[in-house]
Amino acid sequence: MAHVKLHIPGPVEVSEKTFKAFCSPMIGHRGQGFKDLYAKIQPQLQTLLSTKQLVYISTSSAWGVMEGAVRNLTQKKVLNCMCGAFSDKWLDVAKKCGKQAEALQVEWGSPIRAEAIDKQLATGEFDSLTLIHNETSTGVMSPLAEIAALKKKYPDVMFIVDAVSSMTAVPLKFDELGIDVLLAGTQKAFALPPGTAVFVASPAALAKAATAKDRGYYFDFVEFQKNAEQSMTPSTPSIGHVYALSSKLDDFFAEGLEARYARHAKTNQMTRDWAAKHGFNLFPEKGFESITLTCVSNGARPGGRTVDVAKLQKLVKDQGFLIDGGYGKIKGTTFRLSNMGDETEATMNQLYAALDKAMTQL
Ligand SMILES: *Cc1c(COP(=O)(O)O)cnc(C)c1O
Repeated sequence: MAHVKLHIPGPVEVSEKTFKAFCSPMIGHRGQGFKDLYAKIQPQLQTLLSTKQLVYISTSSAWGVMEGAVRNLTQKKVLNCMCGAFSDKWLDVAKKCGKQAEALQVEWGSPIRAEAIDKQLATGEFDSLTLIHNETSTGVMSPLAEIAALKKKYPDVMFIVDAVSSMTAVPLKFDELGIDVLLAGTQKAFALPPGTAVFVASPAALAKAATAKDRGYYFDFVEFQKNAEQSMTPSTPSIGHVYALSSKLDDFFAEGLEARYARHAKTNQMTRDWAAKHGFNLFPEKGFESITLTCVSNGARPGGRTVDVAKLQKLVKDQGFLIDGGYGKIKGTTFRLSNMGDETEATMNQLYAALDKAMTQL
């Protein structure tokens, strides 16, 4: 079957080079070969996230670490900042872990603002919060620096941040932000196959995790730290992913991180321009649009063009591209176009050409 190129916001297209690295001959995860591999990528990951902390590799999708972070770091009550499908779900996940949890819900399409969090944390009820930097379902990027600045006012609250669809596409300076956990799955902006997550924890988070009696085994942060100190993972990792991550990190630094960030900003602007050219509005509140994907309004916002999204998807798919028809309750009234990962101006232009052609056939 002919491959349909992925322009959905995850998983995204994976390069031949990455697949080759993924298929490197297998090695033992307690041997020197693996330790050398992890030790080689550790400083690259630390540079990527601007941190002195050890960066961990988890063989799970992002949700594994998202659940694990709540189990490691919530003893009193967690504040779940909710503005879309993924961030909303974190509340259920916390409750399913038996945690006291409360929603800070804003309307889909709006970002989470620092003032709203401040108000909640001022109650003194919370010892942790969850935040999604780039809410992939709505295409909204919340102002992370502004929110992270609250950490100074509430040093005992653990700030757990999901950067699943923004990590590697925008600068994320972990130590400078001062937050406690930053995590991402590999199938989004990293452009690796799904099945692995990358995360980092603050010294305060590790100290707190050590006091959590019910933090579980598989996502025990203390175990991740102990093992990372030896360039290992707590359990057998997906070694193919680690090879692929190594190859990918080499790509990032060959391109240059700043160039990578600029490329994402540029290709995202091109997608917004494509939407405007066809009379569409964007779904996110102005000024908070993601730069890794574009959530186009198709009736979810007043005014603007609307089309038969299912038909648009089919017409584009027939030309070899997969786009997303909207997520959860905004399925059909929005659609999403991803520019994350390896996409360039040239490859995005191929997508726009297919979309342009499809628009004439609707
Ligand atoms: C995709 C996504 C997730 C879920 O990731 P899984 O890999 O399916 O666990 C969580 N958060 C955000 C922001 C995402 O985009």
